[in-house]
Amino acid sequence: MSKIETPRVGFVSLGCPKAASDAENILTRLRSEGYDISASYEGADLVVVNTCGFIDAAVEESLDAIGEALKENGKVIVTGCLGAKKDAAGQGIVQSVHPKVLAVTGPHATEEVMDAVHFHLPKPHDPFTDLVPPQGVRLTPDHFAYLKISEGCNHRCTFCIIPSLRGDLVSRPIHDVMREAESLVDAGVKELLVISQDTSAYGVDVKYRTGFVNGKPVKTKLYDLCNALSELDVWVRLHYVYPYPSVDDVIPLMAEGKILPYLDVPFQHASPRILKLMKRPASSENNLARIKRWREICPELTIRSTFIAGFPGETEDEFNELLDFLGEAQLDRVGCFAYSPVEGATANALPDAVPDEVREDRKHRLMEFQEDISTRRLEAKIGKEIVVLVDDVDDEGAIARSEGDAPEIDGLVMIPDGQEMEVGGFYRVRVTDCDVHDLYAEPVYADEAPQA
Ligand code: SF4
Repeated sequence: MSKIETPRVGFVSLGCPKAASDAENILTRLRSEGYDISASYEGADLVVVNTCGFIDAAVEESLDAIGEALKENGKVIVTGCLGAKKDAAGQGIVQSVHPKVLAVTGPHATEEVMDAVHFHLPKPHDPFTDLVPPQGVRLTPDHFAYLKISEGCNHRCTFCIIPSLRGDLVSRPIHDVMREAESLVDAGVKELLVISQDTSAYGVDVKYRTGFVNGKPVKTKLYDLCNALSELDVWVRLHYVYPYPSVDDVIPLMAEGKILPYLDVPFQHASPRILKLMKRPASSENNLARIKRWREICPELTIRSTFIAGFPGETEDEFNELLDFLGEAQLDRVGCFAYSPVEGATANALPDAVPDEVREDRKHRLMEFQEDISTRRLEAKIGKEIVVLVDDVDDEGAIARSEGDAPEIDGLVMIPDGQEMEVGGFYRVRVTDCDVHDLYAEPVYADEAPQA
Protein backbone atom coordinates (compact mmCIF):
# COMPACT_ATOMS: atom_id res chain seq x y z
CA MET A 1 0.00 0.00 0.00
CA SER A 2 1.43 3.40 -0.93
CA LYS A 3 1.79 6.20 1.60
CA ILE A 4 -1.24 7.96 0.11
CA GLU A 5 -3.44 4.99 1.00
CA THR A 6 -2.36 4.82 4.66
CA PRO A 7 -5.46 5.47 6.80
CA ARG A 8 -5.21 8.67 8.86
CA VAL A 9 -6.80 9.33 12.22
CA GLY A 10 -7.30 12.81 13.69
CA PHE A 11 -6.95 12.98 17.47
CA VAL A 12 -8.29 15.62 19.88
CA SER A 13 -7.44 15.16 23.55
CA LEU A 14 -8.90 17.18 26.44
CA GLY A 15 -8.75 16.82 30.23
CA CYS A 16 -6.40 15.79 32.99
CA PRO A 17 -3.12 13.80 33.00
CA LYS A 18 -5.10 10.50 33.31
CA ALA A 19 -6.95 11.37 30.12
CA ALA A 20 -3.62 12.28 28.51
CA SER A 21 -2.23 8.89 29.47
CA ASP A 22 -5.28 7.16 27.89
CA ALA A 23 -4.66 9.26 24.77
CA GLU A 24 -1.02 8.16 24.65
CA ASN A 25 -2.07 4.50 24.84
CA ILE A 26 -4.52 4.91 21.97
CA LEU A 27 -2.05 6.91 19.86
CA THR A 28 0.64 4.28 20.50
CA ARG A 29 -1.70 1.52 19.32
CA LEU A 30 -2.75 3.51 16.27
CA ARG A 31 0.85 4.13 15.24
CA SER A 32 1.98 0.56 15.97
CA GLU A 33 -0.81 -0.76 13.75
CA GLY A 34 0.32 1.51 10.92
CA TYR A 35 -2.29 4.32 11.09
CA ASP A 36 -1.01 7.84 10.41
CA ILE A 37 -2.02 10.62 12.79
CA SER A 38 -3.47 13.62 10.99
CA ALA A 39 -2.81 17.17 12.18
CA SER A 40 -6.05 18.46 10.66
CA TYR A 41 -9.71 17.41 10.43
CA GLU A 42 -9.68 17.62 6.64
CA GLY A 43 -6.72 15.26 6.20
CA ALA A 44 -8.22 12.63 8.53
CA ASP A 45 -10.36 9.63 7.53
CA LEU A 46 -11.83 9.60 11.03
CA VAL A 47 -11.43 11.59 14.28
CA VAL A 48 -11.12 10.33 17.87
CA VAL A 49 -12.15 12.85 20.55
CA ASN A 50 -10.86 12.08 24.07
CA THR A 51 -13.19 13.97 26.42
CA CYS A 52 -13.32 15.29 29.99
CA GLY A 53 -16.51 15.28 32.10
CA PHE A 54 -15.25 16.67 35.39
CA ILE A 55 -16.95 20.11 35.70
CA ASP A 56 -19.65 21.82 33.62
CA ALA A 57 -17.10 23.90 31.73
CA ALA A 58 -15.16 20.76 30.77
CA VAL A 59 -18.38 19.06 29.62
CA GLU A 60 -19.19 22.08 27.44
CA GLU A 61 -15.68 22.15 25.99
CA SER A 62 -15.85 18.42 25.19
CA LEU A 63 -19.31 18.66 23.59
CA ASP A 64 -18.11 21.60 21.49
CA ALA A 65 -15.02 19.68 20.38
CA ILE A 66 -17.20 16.72 19.30
CA GLY A 67 -19.55 19.11 17.44
CA GLU A 68 -16.63 20.72 15.64
CA ALA A 69 -15.15 17.34 14.66
CA LEU A 70 -18.54 16.19 13.34
CA LYS A 71 -18.92 19.39 11.31
CA GLU A 72 -15.39 19.41 9.90
CA ASN A 73 -14.92 15.68 9.37
CA GLY A 74 -18.15 13.76 10.00
CA LYS A 75 -16.69 10.44 11.26
CA VAL A 76 -16.16 10.73 15.02
CA ILE A 77 -15.42 8.23 17.81
CA VAL A 78 -15.71 9.57 21.36
CA THR A 79 -13.80 8.24 24.36
CA GLY A 80 -12.93 9.49 27.87
CA CYS A 81 -14.82 10.48 31.01
CA LEU A 82 -17.71 12.29 29.32
CA GLY A 83 -18.42 9.10 27.34
CA ALA A 84 -19.36 7.37 30.60
CA LYS A 85 -21.64 10.19 31.84
CA LYS A 86 -25.43 9.84 31.76
CA ASP A 87 -28.17 12.49 31.96
CA ALA A 88 -31.09 12.40 34.46
CA ALA A 89 -33.01 9.99 32.18
CA GLY A 90 -30.09 7.53 32.16
CA GLN A 91 -29.24 8.39 28.54
CA GLY A 92 -25.57 8.89 27.54
CA ILE A 93 -24.90 12.67 27.38
CA VAL A 94 -22.72 12.41 24.27
CA GLN A 95 -25.26 10.31 22.34
CA SER A 96 -28.18 12.57 23.23
CA VAL A 97 -26.38 15.80 22.19
CA HIS A 98 -24.53 14.29 19.18
CA PRO A 99 -26.47 11.22 17.96
CA LYS A 100 -24.30 11.02 14.81
CA VAL A 101 -21.09 9.91 16.58
CA LEU A 102 -19.96 6.45 15.42
CA ALA A 103 -19.13 5.00 18.86
CA VAL A 104 -18.78 6.15 22.46
CA THR A 105 -16.64 4.60 25.20
CA GLY A 106 -15.70 5.61 28.74
CA PRO A 107 -12.11 6.23 29.96
CA HIS A 108 -9.36 3.50 29.94
CA ALA A 109 -10.89 1.87 26.90
CA THR A 110 -8.04 1.47 24.42
CA GLU A 111 -9.32 -1.92 23.19
CA GLU A 112 -12.88 -0.66 22.66
CA VAL A 113 -11.63 2.46 20.86
CA MET A 114 -9.37 0.35 18.63
CA ASP A 115 -12.26 -2.01 17.93
CA ALA A 116 -14.41 0.94 16.80
CA VAL A 117 -11.51 2.31 14.70
CA HIS A 118 -10.98 -1.11 13.04
CA PHE A 119 -14.68 -1.34 12.23
CA HIS A 120 -14.99 2.12 10.67
CA LEU A 121 -11.48 2.40 9.22
CA PRO A 122 -9.92 -1.03 8.57
CA LYS A 123 -6.34 -1.66 9.65
CA PRO A 124 -3.61 -1.00 7.06
CA HIS A 125 -1.94 -3.99 5.46
CA ASP A 126 1.08 -5.25 7.41
CA PRO A 127 3.45 -7.26 5.18
CA PHE A 128 4.96 -9.00 8.20
CA THR A 129 1.95 -10.19 10.20
CA ASP A 130 -0.23 -10.61 7.10
CA LEU A 131 1.88 -13.61 6.11
CA VAL A 132 0.01 -15.45 8.87
CA PRO A 133 -3.60 -16.25 7.88
CA PRO A 134 -6.12 -14.07 9.79
CA GLN A 135 -7.42 -17.11 11.71
CA GLY A 136 -3.84 -17.92 12.88
CA VAL A 137 -2.06 -21.27 12.56
CA ARG A 138 -4.33 -24.07 13.82
CA LEU A 139 -3.88 -27.73 14.69
CA THR A 140 -7.54 -28.74 14.20
CA PRO A 141 -9.10 -29.66 10.82
CA ASP A 142 -10.46 -26.77 8.73
CA HIS A 143 -14.08 -27.23 9.78
CA PHE A 144 -13.89 -27.01 13.58
CA ALA A 145 -11.83 -24.89 15.96
CA TYR A 146 -11.37 -24.24 19.67
CA LEU A 147 -12.19 -20.74 20.89
CA LYS A 148 -10.53 -19.97 24.21
CA ILE A 149 -12.44 -17.27 26.10
CA SER A 150 -10.38 -16.98 29.29
CA GLU A 151 -7.27 -18.22 31.03
CA GLY A 152 -6.77 -19.26 34.66
CA CYS A 153 -9.34 -20.05 37.33
CA ASN A 154 -10.67 -18.50 40.56
CA HIS A 155 -11.46 -21.90 42.13
CA ARG A 156 -9.15 -24.02 44.20
CA CYS A 157 -10.28 -27.60 43.61
CA THR A 158 -8.07 -29.70 45.86
CA PHE A 159 -7.12 -32.20 43.13
CA CYS A 160 -6.03 -29.53 40.63
CA ILE A 161 -2.93 -27.35 40.28
CA ILE A 162 -4.06 -25.24 37.31
CA PRO A 163 -4.62 -22.05 39.38
CA SER A 164 -1.07 -22.27 40.73
CA LEU A 165 0.26 -22.72 37.19
CA ARG A 166 -1.94 -20.26 35.32
CA GLY A 167 -3.21 -17.88 38.01
CA ASP A 168 -6.68 -16.48 38.60
CA LEU A 169 -9.30 -16.08 35.89
CA VAL A 170 -8.51 -13.53 33.19
CA SER A 171 -11.29 -13.16 30.62
CA ARG A 172 -10.36 -12.18 27.09
CA PRO A 173 -12.08 -8.97 25.98
CA ILE A 174 -15.33 -9.79 24.19
CA HIS A 175 -14.33 -7.92 21.02
CA ASP A 176 -11.12 -9.94 20.87
CA VAL A 177 -12.97 -13.27 21.24
CA MET A 178 -15.53 -12.23 18.62
CA ARG A 179 -12.85 -11.02 16.21
CA GLU A 180 -11.15 -14.42 16.43
CA ALA A 181 -14.48 -16.23 16.01
CA GLU A 182 -15.32 -14.14 12.93
CA SER A 183 -11.99 -14.80 11.26
CA LEU A 184 -12.29 -18.52 11.98
CA VAL A 185 -15.74 -18.58 10.36
CA ASP A 186 -14.44 -16.50 7.42
CA ALA A 187 -11.73 -19.15 6.98
CA GLY A 188 -14.36 -21.93 6.70
CA VAL A 189 -14.83 -23.14 10.29
CA LYS A 190 -18.30 -24.67 10.80
CA GLU A 191 -18.13 -25.49 14.50
CA LEU A 192 -16.70 -23.38 17.34
CA LEU A 193 -15.82 -25.19 20.57
CA VAL A 194 -15.88 -22.66 23.40
CA ILE A 195 -13.28 -23.59 26.02
CA SER A 196 -11.67 -22.20 29.19
CA GLN A 197 -11.08 -23.49 32.71
CA ASP A 198 -14.47 -22.19 33.85
CA THR A 199 -16.68 -21.09 30.96
CA SER A 200 -19.62 -20.11 33.18
CA ALA A 201 -17.40 -17.55 34.97
CA TYR A 202 -16.59 -15.63 31.77
CA GLY A 203 -16.42 -11.90 32.56
CA VAL A 204 -16.58 -12.20 36.40
CA ASP A 205 -13.06 -10.72 36.69
CA VAL A 206 -13.98 -7.62 34.64
CA LYS A 207 -17.41 -7.24 36.27
CA TYR A 208 -19.08 -8.22 32.98
CA ARG A 209 -17.83 -4.99 31.44
CA THR A 210 -19.33 -3.82 28.17
CA GLY A 211 -17.11 -4.05 25.09
CA PHE A 212 -17.80 -3.23 21.45
CA VAL A 213 -18.35 -5.83 18.77
CA ASN A 214 -18.57 -4.32 15.29
CA GLY A 215 -19.55 -1.02 16.87
CA LYS A 216 -22.33 -2.51 19.05
CA PRO A 217 -22.10 -2.73 22.87
CA VAL A 218 -21.88 -6.34 24.14
CA LYS A 219 -21.28 -7.48 27.75
CA THR A 220 -18.34 -9.72 28.67
CA LYS A 221 -20.74 -12.44 29.85
CA LEU A 222 -21.49 -16.01 28.77
CA TYR A 223 -25.10 -15.30 27.74
CA ASP A 224 -24.10 -12.27 25.64
CA LEU A 225 -21.15 -14.12 24.11
CA CYS A 226 -23.42 -17.05 23.10
CA ASN A 227 -25.92 -14.62 21.58
CA ALA A 228 -23.18 -12.85 19.60
CA LEU A 229 -21.65 -16.15 18.44
CA SER A 230 -25.06 -17.43 17.34
CA GLU A 231 -25.13 -14.67 14.70
CA LEU A 232 -22.18 -16.28 12.94
CA ASP A 233 -24.46 -19.13 11.80
CA VAL A 234 -22.19 -22.03 12.74
CA TRP A 235 -22.38 -24.72 15.44
CA VAL A 236 -21.37 -23.28 18.84
CA ARG A 237 -20.60 -25.88 21.54
CA LEU A 238 -19.94 -25.07 25.21
CA HIS A 239 -17.33 -26.93 27.25
CA TYR A 240 -16.37 -26.75 30.96
CA VAL A 241 -19.57 -25.17 32.21
CA TYR A 242 -20.31 -25.36 35.95
CA PRO A 243 -23.89 -25.77 37.15
CA TYR A 244 -24.41 -22.22 38.41
CA PRO A 245 -27.89 -20.68 38.32
CA SER A 246 -26.62 -18.23 35.66
CA VAL A 247 -26.25 -21.13 33.20
CA ASP A 248 -30.06 -21.48 33.22
CA ASP A 249 -30.16 -18.29 31.09
CA VAL A 250 -28.16 -19.92 28.30
CA ILE A 251 -30.43 -22.98 27.91
CA PRO A 252 -33.23 -21.08 26.09
CA LEU A 253 -30.64 -20.12 23.42
CA MET A 254 -30.16 -23.87 22.91
CA ALA A 255 -33.93 -24.48 22.78
CA GLU A 256 -34.19 -21.73 20.11
CA GLY A 257 -31.48 -23.41 18.02
CA LYS A 258 -29.09 -20.46 18.42
CA ILE A 259 -26.28 -22.56 19.92
CA LEU A 260 -25.94 -26.36 20.12
CA PRO A 261 -28.09 -28.10 22.76
CA TYR A 262 -24.96 -29.50 24.39
CA LEU A 263 -23.31 -28.92 27.76
CA ASP A 264 -20.04 -30.33 29.00
CA VAL A 265 -20.40 -30.07 32.80
CA PRO A 266 -17.60 -31.67 34.84
CA PHE A 267 -19.62 -32.70 37.93
CA GLN A 268 -16.75 -34.92 39.27
CA HIS A 269 -18.89 -36.38 42.08
CA ALA A 270 -22.35 -36.36 43.64
CA SER A 271 -21.74 -36.86 47.35
CA PRO A 272 -21.95 -33.45 49.09
CA ARG A 273 -19.15 -34.43 51.49
CA ILE A 274 -16.77 -35.46 48.70
CA LEU A 275 -17.64 -32.38 46.62
CA LYS A 276 -16.81 -30.27 49.65
CA LEU A 277 -13.50 -32.09 50.14
CA MET A 278 -12.82 -31.46 46.44
CA LYS A 279 -13.80 -27.77 46.92
CA ARG A 280 -15.78 -27.96 43.68
CA PRO A 281 -17.47 -24.89 42.23
CA ALA A 282 -21.25 -24.89 42.75
CA SER A 283 -20.91 -27.86 45.13
CA SER A 284 -23.94 -26.79 47.15
CA GLU A 285 -26.25 -26.61 44.10
CA ASN A 286 -28.94 -29.24 43.68
CA ASN A 287 -27.60 -30.63 40.44
CA LEU A 288 -30.43 -33.11 39.82
CA ALA A 289 -33.03 -30.33 40.06
CA ARG A 290 -30.91 -28.16 37.79
CA ILE A 291 -30.56 -30.89 35.14
CA LYS A 292 -34.32 -31.50 35.29
CA ARG A 293 -35.01 -27.82 34.72
CA TRP A 294 -32.53 -27.62 31.83
CA ARG A 295 -34.24 -30.58 30.14
CA GLU A 296 -37.68 -29.06 30.66
CA ILE A 297 -36.50 -25.95 28.80
CA CYS A 298 -34.54 -27.88 26.16
CA PRO A 299 -35.55 -31.55 25.85
CA GLU A 300 -32.92 -32.13 23.11
CA LEU A 301 -30.07 -31.20 25.48
CA THR A 302 -27.07 -33.57 25.49
CA ILE A 303 -25.13 -33.49 28.77
CA ARG A 304 -21.61 -34.82 29.02
CA SER A 305 -19.69 -35.03 32.26
CA THR A 306 -16.60 -36.43 33.94
CA PHE A 307 -16.21 -38.02 37.38
CA ILE A 308 -13.44 -39.08 39.73
CA ALA A 309 -13.75 -42.45 41.47
CA GLY A 310 -11.79 -43.24 44.65
CA PHE A 311 -11.11 -39.66 45.82
CA PRO A 312 -9.37 -39.68 49.25
CA GLY A 313 -11.89 -40.58 51.94
CA GLU A 314 -14.58 -41.82 49.50
CA THR A 315 -16.54 -44.59 51.25
CA GLU A 316 -18.44 -47.37 49.51
CA ASP A 317 -21.69 -45.59 50.46
CA GLU A 318 -20.50 -42.34 48.93
CA PHE A 319 -19.49 -44.13 45.76
CA ASN A 320 -22.96 -45.70 45.61
CA GLU A 321 -24.40 -42.21 46.05
CA LEU A 322 -22.55 -41.30 42.86
CA LEU A 323 -24.06 -44.30 41.03
CA ASP A 324 -27.54 -43.31 42.28
CA PHE A 325 -26.94 -39.81 40.93
CA LEU A 326 -26.02 -41.23 37.51
CA GLY A 327 -29.14 -43.41 37.56
CA GLU A 328 -31.29 -40.34 38.23
CA ALA A 329 -29.45 -37.83 36.05
CA GLN A 330 -29.46 -40.02 32.90
CA LEU A 331 -26.47 -38.18 31.45
CA ASP A 332 -25.72 -38.85 27.80
CA ARG A 333 -21.94 -39.11 27.90
CA VAL A 334 -19.70 -39.82 30.87
CA GLY A 335 -15.96 -40.14 31.37
CA CYS A 336 -14.43 -41.42 34.61
CA PHE A 337 -10.92 -41.33 36.05
CA ALA A 338 -9.62 -43.32 38.98
CA TYR A 339 -8.26 -40.69 41.40
CA SER A 340 -4.56 -40.13 40.91
CA PRO A 341 -2.57 -37.65 43.02
CA VAL A 342 -1.05 -34.71 41.16
CA GLU A 343 2.19 -33.33 42.55
CA GLY A 344 1.47 -30.10 44.43
CA ALA A 345 -2.31 -30.70 44.82
CA THR A 346 -3.70 -30.16 48.33
CA ALA A 347 -5.88 -33.30 48.07
CA ASN A 348 -2.68 -35.33 48.54
CA ALA A 349 -2.72 -34.36 52.22
CA LEU A 350 -6.28 -35.62 52.79
CA PRO A 351 -6.61 -38.67 55.07
CA ASP A 352 -8.01 -42.11 54.18
CA ALA A 353 -6.52 -42.61 50.72
CA VAL A 354 -8.49 -45.25 48.80
CA PRO A 355 -6.28 -48.22 47.75
CA ASP A 356 -5.31 -48.23 44.06
CA GLU A 357 -7.20 -51.42 43.21
CA VAL A 358 -10.41 -50.07 44.81
CA ARG A 359 -10.14 -46.85 42.82
CA GLU A 360 -9.75 -48.84 39.58
CA ASP A 361 -12.59 -51.19 40.51
CA ARG A 362 -14.93 -48.26 41.23
CA LYS A 363 -14.00 -46.61 37.94
CA HIS A 364 -14.90 -49.82 36.03
CA ARG A 365 -18.14 -50.23 37.96
CA LEU A 366 -19.10 -46.65 37.20
CA MET A 367 -18.35 -47.00 33.48
CA GLU A 368 -20.28 -50.28 33.27
CA PHE A 369 -23.24 -48.74 35.07
CA GLN A 370 -23.23 -45.73 32.74
CA GLU A 371 -22.86 -47.84 29.57
CA ASP A 372 -26.46 -49.01 29.84
CA ILE A 373 -27.70 -45.46 30.30
CA SER A 374 -25.68 -44.07 27.37
CA THR A 375 -26.77 -46.94 25.11
CA ARG A 376 -30.44 -46.45 25.97
CA ARG A 377 -30.17 -42.74 25.25
CA LEU A 378 -28.59 -43.48 21.85
CA GLU A 379 -31.22 -46.18 21.10
CA ALA A 380 -33.93 -43.55 21.56
CA LYS A 381 -32.53 -41.80 18.46
CA ILE A 382 -32.99 -44.79 16.14
CA GLY A 383 -35.43 -43.90 13.35
CA LYS A 384 -35.00 -40.15 13.87
CA GLU A 385 -33.63 -37.70 11.34
CA ILE A 386 -30.71 -35.63 12.61
CA VAL A 387 -28.21 -33.14 11.20
CA VAL A 388 -24.56 -34.16 11.16
CA LEU A 389 -21.25 -32.45 10.39
CA VAL A 390 -18.93 -34.68 8.33
CA ASP A 391 -15.39 -35.15 9.68
CA ASP A 392 -14.01 -37.68 7.21
CA VAL A 393 -14.95 -39.49 3.98
CA ASP A 394 -13.39 -42.53 2.31
CA ASP A 395 -14.43 -45.57 0.22
CA GLU A 396 -16.19 -47.07 3.22
CA GLY A 397 -18.44 -44.09 3.76
CA ALA A 398 -18.50 -40.95 5.88
CA ILE A 399 -17.70 -40.40 9.55
CA ALA A 400 -19.65 -37.53 11.05
CA ARG A 401 -20.83 -36.11 14.34
CA SER A 402 -24.27 -35.08 15.54
CA GLU A 403 -25.15 -32.04 17.65
CA GLY A 404 -24.59 -34.27 20.69
CA ASP A 405 -21.01 -35.29 19.80
CA ALA A 406 -18.00 -33.10 20.51
CA PRO A 407 -14.87 -34.00 18.54
CA GLU A 408 -12.31 -36.28 20.21
CA ILE A 409 -14.33 -36.99 23.38
CA ASP A 410 -17.82 -38.15 22.32
CA GLY A 411 -19.18 -40.65 19.82
CA LEU A 412 -19.43 -40.60 16.03
CA VAL A 413 -22.12 -41.07 13.41
CA MET A 414 -21.08 -43.74 10.88
CA ILE A 415 -22.67 -43.34 7.44
CA PRO A 416 -21.70 -46.36 5.26
CA ASP A 417 -23.45 -44.84 2.20
CA GLY A 418 -21.89 -41.43 2.70
CA GLN A 419 -19.11 -41.68 0.08
CA GLU A 420 -20.56 -38.67 -1.79
CA MET A 421 -20.58 -36.42 1.26
CA GLU A 422 -18.03 -33.66 1.73
CA VAL A 423 -15.80 -33.12 4.74
CA GLY A 424 -17.01 -30.05 6.64
CA GLY A 425 -20.53 -30.30 5.15
CA PHE A 426 -23.80 -30.43 7.11
CA TYR A 427 -26.17 -33.25 6.07
CA ARG A 428 -29.49 -34.61 7.18
CA VAL A 429 -29.35 -38.36 7.97
CA ARG A 430 -31.69 -41.00 9.44
CA VAL A 431 -30.37 -43.00 12.41
CA THR A 432 -30.58 -46.75 11.71
CA ASP A 433 -28.67 -48.31 14.63
CA CYS A 434 -26.29 -47.68 17.52
CA ASP A 435 -23.77 -49.29 19.82
CA VAL A 436 -22.49 -48.07 23.18
CA HIS A 437 -20.82 -44.93 21.79
CA ASP A 438 -21.71 -44.43 18.13
CA LEU A 439 -24.72 -44.02 15.89
CA TYR A 440 -25.16 -45.55 12.42
CA ALA A 441 -27.13 -43.63 9.84
CA GLU A 442 -28.16 -43.39 6.19
CA PRO A 443 -28.32 -40.21 4.12
CA VAL A 444 -31.72 -38.59 3.67
CA TYR A 445 -31.75 -37.64 0.01
CA ALA A 446 -32.81 -34.30 -1.37
CA ASP A 447 -36.11 -35.71 -2.70
CA GLU A 448 -36.97 -36.96 0.82
CA ALA A 449 -35.98 -33.85 2.82
CA PRO A 450 -34.00 -30.67 2.25
CA GLN A 451 -30.32 -30.85 3.15
CA ALA A 452 -29.41 -28.97 6.31
S1 SF4 B 1 -12.47 -25.35 38.40
FE1 SF4 B 1 -11.22 -26.59 39.75
S2 SF4 B 1 -10.50 -28.27 38.41
FE2 SF4 B 1 -11.17 -26.63 37.09
S3 SF4 B 1 -9.30 -25.43 36.69
FE3 SF4 B 1 -10.38 -24.47 38.41
S4 SF4 B 1 -9.39 -25.36 40.18
FE4 SF4 B 1 -8.89 -26.69 38.47
